[in-house]
Amino acid sequence: MSTGGPLNVLNGKHGISSRLRTVPVMNLIRKHKPQGRGELVDLIASHSKPENPCECGIKSTGTIEDFGKSLYNAQKNEWGQYIHTLEECITWEYNLFIINSLKGNVIEEKAIQEFRKHFKGWNISESSEKIDNDYRVDLVISDNHNHNKSGIQVKPETYKRMRGSVKLSNEMRNKQWGNPVFYLYYNKESNFINLEDVILSVNKAIRFSTLAISVSLLHTSGFVFFTFFFAIFNSLFVNIQFLY
Ligand SMILES: [Zn+2]
Repeated sequence: MSTGGPLNVLNGKHGISSRLRTVPVMNLIRKHKPQGRGELVDLIASHSKPENPCECGIKSTGTIEDFGKSLYNAQKNEWGQYIHTLEECITWEYNLFIINSLKGNVIEEKAIQEFRKHFKGWNISESSEKIDNDYRVDLVISDNHNHNKSGIQVKPETYKRMRGSVKLSNEMRNKQWGNPVFYLYYNKESNFINLEDVILSVNKAIRFSTLAISVSLLHTSGFVFFTFFFAIFNSLFVNIQFLY
């Protein structure tokens, strides 16, 4: 069983797996680096105990089983009946949160390696929890002064078929970050499908931002010169006025 099909539509439409209603699972993986599926299942469960919060600050609203139950219950509202069993619904959320997320983490690593090959002299790293949370950016490309220049979102190809509102909300957050963000997609075989395009776009973006700084410096210095000459001219003019 995959994460496609009618349950995918149901899950998306009711926002069952949205990070606010569940857990920021990629953050959890980066923070605790689980070795395998079982460990990730346990991590999600152990972060769902408000009476015993983890020092990493990540919180889950429940366990994989709970997420499956939400999906199961949503069927009644949507279809007026329960088409899929509770077990099927739990398996579906398990595939999404555990299998896909771990795969996503491996993919992010692979993307970092690719970008490091192409952008020597630049820093390419996983985004901080804050940047990921606030601006939905997976990878950050920064210069050697640690100034962020561009961001990458690494998404499965199926993301393109997701609800428009989900994509729009991500893009709006991307914009608030203030640096261009590009989407790198991978297919079922875990191969990137638009790596060349993204590399070209990032290349343009980081060159442009360097150019923009030079232009703005030029601008500033130009303005200083102008003010300087204007001041001289002004004083001359004033002096001339005095002469007459
Ligand atoms: Zn933790």
